[in-house]
Amino acid sequence: MTPLEIIDKAIVIASTPDVIFASFGDMLRVPGSKKDLLSVKAEGGDIRIVYSPLDAVKIAQQNPGKKVVFLAVGFETTAPANAMSVFQAKRLGLTNFSILCSHVLVPPAMEALLSSPANLIQGFLAAGHVCTIMGYDEYIPIAAKYKVPIVVTGFEPVDILQGIYMTVKQLEEGRVEVENQYARSVRREGNLPARKLLSEVFVTIDRKWRGIGTIPSSGYGLASSFSAFDAEKVFDVGELHADESPLCIAGQVLQGLRKPHECSAFGKECTPERPLGAPMVSSEGACAAYYHFGRARLPSS
Ligand code: SF4
Repeated sequence: MTPLEIIDKAIVIASTPDVIFASFGDMLRVPGSKKDLLSVKAEGGDIRIVYSPLDAVKIAQQNPGKKVVFLAVGFETTAPANAMSVFQAKRLGLTNFSILCSHVLVPPAMEALLSSPANLIQGFLAAGHVCTIMGYDEYIPIAAKYKVPIVVTGFEPVDILQGIYMTVKQLEEGRVEVENQYARSVRREGNLPARKLLSEVFVTIDRKWRGIGTIPSSGYGLASSFSAFDAEKVFDVGELHADESPLCIAGQVLQGLRKPHECSAFGKECTPERPLGAPMVSSEGACAAYYHFGRARLPSS
């Protein structure tokens, strides 16, 4: 399921009568094939912005006559809270709560990038928040196999500077190691209670990535013991297919092959207010970052 397909499925579900659809606010502007969730809300859909998936569980408790669906997307970082919502709903015996699940995993995506014939990547800053949950053992065989330094890095500007410094230093010294710049948050084994919960609630599944295609074992789906909480099954939207905008080169941007401003839609058809692709949606996305912080320095087109 691509990001576009997940939004299309969310739109179908959110438009269903007697459904309360809960989501983080930034997902409401992500475009589907024909409209976004904000338009569904404007048309009268009961879409509620929540700050935690557990808020959606509370909404389900308070509205037993409605089906409540939470849009559960993101990397390993957001997965424990989403897993907890399902775990909690099962513990409470709720039958009107489900999640539309589209989690993706970092290490298989790194391997897909590194094994591509077009690969230009010589080193990785591994995202500190992901490693806070998962630890960094998974990266050690990747660094060794593809001979790339990997430095687990935090998010403050000085963290990123130090992460780049550590990566370049490894390259200059001919070393290939996994180093931890973000030791104040990340332990090698990660957050063990969170990982235990993830392994109970989710199983790894193949996932389609925008512009890249299917990467084996690169996503989470609900384990069979939690399948009653799978919105795709509750609402029968499993086979929905959607084509990406032909303007969007997010796949190439995500692979480091093109810069965001080399996309013909950058800052024109595609802006943070009206994004065409996922990298323009979140402030962490490459296209949004170029839009907010890099436009003044870009060559005029
Ligand atoms: S600028 Fe927009 S359309 Fe272009 S690659 Fe980025 S997200 Fe896609």
